Amino acid sequence: MKKITIAKGDGIGPEIMDATLSILMHAGAQIEFDEISVGEKVYLSGNSSGISKEAWDIIRRNKIFLKAPITTPQGGGYKSLNVSTRKFLGLYANIRPCVSLHPFVETKHPKMDIVIFRENEEDLYAGIEHQQTDEVVQCLKLITRPGCEKIIRYAFEYARHYGRKKVTCFTKDNIMKQTDGLFHQVFNEIAVEYPDIINEHWIIDIGAAKVADTPEAFDVIVTPNLYGDVLSDIAAQIAGSVGLAGSSNIGEECAMFEAIHGSAPDIAGKNIANPSGLLQGAILMLLHIGQASVAERIQNAWLKTIEEGIHTFDIYNEATSKKRVGTKEFAEAVIANLGQKPSLLSPVSYSNNVQLSLPKYQRKAQKRKELQGVDLFVHWGGDNGEKLAAILKNLNTSDMQLKMITNRGIKVYPDGFPETFCTDHWRCRFEQIGGVKINNEHIVQLLRDAHDKSIDVIKTENLYTFDGQPAFSLGQGQ
Ligand code: NAD
Repeated sequence: MKKITIAKGDGIGPEIMDATLSILMHAGAQIEFDEISVGEKVYLSGNSSGISKEAWDIIRRNKIFLKAPITTPQGGGYKSLNVSTRKFLGLYANIRPCVSLHPFVETKHPKMDIVIFRENEEDLYAGIEHQQTDEVVQCLKLITRPGCEKIIRYAFEYARHYGRKKVTCFTKDNIMKQTDGLFHQVFNEIAVEYPDIINEHWIIDIGAAKVADTPEAFDVIVTPNLYGDVLSDIAAQIAGSVGLAGSSNIGEECAMFEAIHGSAPDIAGKNIANPSGLLQGAILMLLHIGQASVAERIQNAWLKTIEEGIHTFDIYNEATSKKRVGTKEFAEAVIANLGQKPSLLSPVSYSNNVQLSLPKYQRKAQKRKELQGVDLFVHWGGDNGEKLAAILKNLNTSDMQLKMITNRGIKVYPDGFPETFCTDHWRCRFEQIGGVKINNEHIVQLLRDAHDKSIDVIKTENLYTFDGQPAFSLGQGQ
């Protein structure tokens, strides 16, 4: 018997959770649950995170969390519970299977069967943002080696254990050579360990277009957080309905399972919501906790119910539906079909299911890091890189000199184009000269000199080589 935590959430949450639990218990799931209260009521009671400390303790004790959707109240100050749950519990992998159920659920892609692995904790979602000048705000894109290794290894392990043939990596490393470049590089490193699985890389823009057009060309996809967020909604939608998909959020210790849709306040309390998304989340949970035969029974009974044309209103259509049912009646139909298999849709078999146990991340040996220079980011209201360079050259020393200025990444000094539009945010690169070894003291001195000359430095970035390899981007046009 496995103890899990459940939260019934808001809107349609309680209805779809009751329907889901009733199917799970009838199918013989070996689970007990602690119920916690999260979401709207907790937010409106004055708790801006939507969850109490006691509820966190229960989630952390049970480690497995089945969560119905919640409503984040409108207005500032309320923190998204979904985002904080993922980050606090280290749920690094968001996994979303997107399968079409043609011809019973309308789709242009009858053969679609893909699983998207979205990195879940970092990228632009680290939420580190600053306004730096009158005209410029910045959001920091953080990509880490542990983050890349964990999600990419998970995707390959999943592919191997679930008999998938191919893993595709999506990045934009033709532009972001350091951040997306690291994700792609780690993908290549790990792919070598799985010679039985085909691997490929696509640039995200054309790759996403290809998914929307020809999803049957893909199998398992692994991608950083933002691309995965967008792509997984597109994939769920073109598979037939966002309302039918579940997802898992997996960490080294804990895991959370949910539907991908929201709390649908417009249809709450009417017994019409489709419980399938949360049920799919619960099936992923059963597989994760090693109750594969129960998961298989439920999935086959669910497929049979869909195939019989017993549909909730959201997927009901004259051509293939036979009976329009409410939330409870749909759950009862699935329960009545337990033990049966679909005859037109492919039945599932989870008999080879194993609980994936991934190694914990092992920190690598440190590389030799050498300081090469510094980028000073300067707030300056002028419009011409050459003029700013004339001011900044006064900071040159025998150790470090101004090498380049860019504006929004485009080189404007030396040899800038007068046509280039410039904002009030300038990256001014100082590099060591003549093989001098520099250290942070040189940078502190440079900042002191800049301050004395009334140059408004709003941020610095050190320029390093790691094991002799430059680890910073060049200016566009450099
Ligand atoms: P939504 O997914 O709740 O609803 C979008 C549309 O889909 C609505 O017309 C709704 O009636 C319909 N729909 C959704 N689920 C359905 C189901 N199971 N059966 C039938 N129809 C269904 O998205 P929204 O309206 O943008 O958001 C509503 C609330 O949900 C917001 O407060 C939002 O913050 C929250 N939300 C929560 C989660 C989560 O908890 N994981 C995810 C997304 C949105």
